[in-house]
Amino acid sequence: MHTELPHGTPRRRIESATRHAPWRSRDIPVPLRISLLAHADHCVAAVRCWSAHALPGALPPEPVRPGRLLQQLCLALSDDLPAAVRTAADAARARKVWRAYTHACQLLDREEPPRRLPQPCPVCDLKALMRRADGDIFCRSCNSYWPATG
Ligand SMILES: [Zn+2]
Repeated sequence: MHTELPHGTPRRRIESATRHAPWRSRDIPVPLRISLLAHADHCVAAVRCWSAHALPGALPPEPVRPGRLLQQLCLALSDDLPAAVRTAADAARARKVWRAYTHACQLLDREEPPRRLPQPCPVCDLKALMRRADGDIFCRSCNSYWPATG
């Protein structure tokens, strides 16, 4: 059985097929977060820089995947933190790593839970002071607020 189709039909069928076929899903852009990838690189570079100055022996001699390198260096640095922040320059590099970490938390919409401080609140005198990941301090009792300095 053969029915003649009007001129142009096959093309429309192909176009229709590309719109409705399963492989159409490949055309949907993957929600790749370039900012996140760039920041991941920045995190690795910041930790590598700190480690290269403070604990050069911790850097692996052979190339390692960035995630593994980050993990290895973080473990090495945290193993002996006082040794890793002997100089003011080390402290500045450590601060850069801390900033990279808190920014990563923000990018991932993940916030570190605030930490309780042992000092009483200077306003209400209750032990209700909390320090947030960004360094800001607030009182859970009277809602006093002190922004982080520096
Ligand atoms: Zn208070």
